[in-house]
Amino acid sequence: MGKTWTEYERKAWAPPEKLTVSQCADRYRVLSAKESSNPGKWRSSLTPYLIDIMDAMGDRKCEMVVVKKPAQVGVSEATRNGIFYWVKFDPGPCLLVYPNELSTREQVEERLKPMVRSSLVAETTEKASDIKLTKLALTSMEIYVGWATSPQRLASRPVRYVILDEVNKFVDWSGKDADPISLAKARTRTWKRRKKIVLLSTPTIREAQISKAFEDCDDQKTFTVPCPKCEHYQALVWAQVKWPKRDEAETHKQHESRIVFNQLARFECEDCQYGWSDIERLAVIRKGRWRSQEDAPENPRSLGFQFTVMGTPWCNLSELAAKFLKVKDDPAKLMEFINQDLGEDFEEQQKKIEKETLFNKVAQRHPRNLIPCWAGVVLCAVDTQKNHYVYSVRAFGKNFRSRLIDFGRADTFKQLETMVLSTHWPIADTEGKPTADSLQVYMLLIDARGGKSTAGIDKSRTDEVYRWSMSDPRIRPIMGHGGATTASKAIKLTNTHYVPPQGMGYKIVRYILDVNYFKDVLSHRISHEDHTLWELNGDVDIDYIKQLTSEHKVLVRKGQRANMLWKVKSEKAANHYWDCETYLCAAAVMAKVELLPDQDHLIRARAEESKRRSAVEQQGRNQTEGKKPWVQGKGWWK
Ligand SMILES: [Zn+2]
Repeated sequence: MGKTWTEYERKAWAPPEKLTVSQCADRYRVLSAKESSNPGKWRSSLTPYLIDIMDAMGDRKCEMVVVKKPAQVGVSEATRNGIFYWVKFDPGPCLLVYPNELSTREQVEERLKPMVRSSLVAETTEKASDIKLTKLALTSMEIYVGWATSPQRLASRPVRYVILDEVNKFVDWSGKDADPISLAKARTRTWKRRKKIVLLSTPTIREAQISKAFEDCDDQKTFTVPCPKCEHYQALVWAQVKWPKRDEAETHKQHESRIVFNQLARFECEDCQYGWSDIERLAVIRKGRWRSQEDAPENPRSLGFQFTVMGTPWCNLSELAAKFLKVKDDPAKLMEFINQDLGEDFEEQQKKIEKETLFNKVAQRHPRNLIPCWAGVVLCAVDTQKNHYVYSVRAFGKNFRSRLIDFGRADTFKQLETMVLSTHWPIADTEGKPTADSLQVYMLLIDARGGKSTAGIDKSRTDEVYRWSMSDPRIRPIMGHGGATTASKAIKLTNTHYVPPQGMGYKIVRYILDVNYFKDVLSHRISHEDHTLWELNGDVDIDYIKQLTSEHKVLVRKGQRANMLWKVKSEKAANHYWDCETYLCAAAVMAKVELLPDQDHLIRARAEESKRRSAVEQQGRNQTEGKKPWVQGKGWWK
């Protein structure tokens, strides 16, 4: 046990009546300008959602408090009110844990030390060494500080109180060590039922720490507020926020500005469907209450709290709506919006590709090796293996509509040339009958990283792929990267000087793809409600389908970061066609498919072209030259 107060001291500080943490904060806590942008006396009434959270920290019956929250809504300040209360009225050694050393330094220098200096001066000792980064020794108790990346700091002396801040950012330790959360919890063991563990975090996904801890609580509380019209108490969830649709004449930007400028977003009551304005919402959140789950025990020993930013004064519904519209098509940004801005778990919509969806696409029986009349360009992607290549060929039309034309395996570059690069695929008419027109591959992306494996010996096929790519301007070497960093560009062109294991170095242009991003794009297209957006052909077999369903999107932790990444479901599963289809999504961007005209325009252009061609032929000119625009693999771009 740490230091305890003398009887005299205890009496001197004893509250006039038994105070809760929030009452104690209202009475004694004054925030200095260093601690808050809103300095002055603490007022719990401004943030009613924090009251029960604070009070749980002072409630002797409660051993564990779990708070699932949006970013920047005052919860950390509320926990400092808890520490303040412990120091004053119920001292015991305390451990604070942050994700890493940097966040620890920030918290200690910018929050804890100012709090000690402004509100707890009477508790400090004369010795300057008693206030350090890792330990704040007060006269009544000691506050230890640690971070999740340093197990030895978390595994020493016993403590009564533990606060774990931003637990979803904690690293998972590998090997023998227990994870930081279990380790910190273990230190409270000797305090039995007088211990208190507080876990805080903005959520990420349902499988992550804070949500699991929340689910494990005896009572899982949700912050509810009454409808201004029917007074029905309800949780403020994003699904109930509504705003007017975009007018056809409006750009996306104009739509977003209109919503914000005229404050058009509303929260729709789940009961009476009345749409609350933001002013009404701000008024009712003051009457907010925490709702226990229905079967909660009478004296829960662990309390979970969850609320979204809409239960706080720190948001504006119309601004949230505009931000949502801006990020909704970028999965990484959307996840950040849902976690940080809203404080909700991110439920990934397309975690995996359903086999059923793919079987339905095959059942459409689109012919193989025939370009549909709506397509204006043909693209190919090649996945490089140790001793062969796997390729997919896809035709694209307006609005990224596409159909699989051909797929297969080639053993050599020569075979790829004959099977793919020099093939003329006939274009169908509107009835689906082949015409005299044809298209060649406009661009071929090939994986330049394939084949690398055996230890010590460079078996990568990078050199071969680079050299082959120089034989035809349509071939572009690519390298995929995991896409763990959301900030990077989806496609990056790099000029590099490549030095092969044997021989001279040379200059090469290659493209680095954020494959995780393009897998999101692909999964979105495959599962799109418009089944014609991404089509297969009738020749697709079970193997192709298996490969397309070989990966799923899961949470992957690397150092401080947790990311949703596409990973193979089982190590044995082949995923070559999945890779090819992913590269094709990137190829479509590189080929500027979005500029393709619609079907009528394409058909007209082809008719004009064929008229011109026959005129040229009649003049007895060279046939191959006459065919040029459609056979040189240029497609729409002559
Ligand atoms: Zn209502």
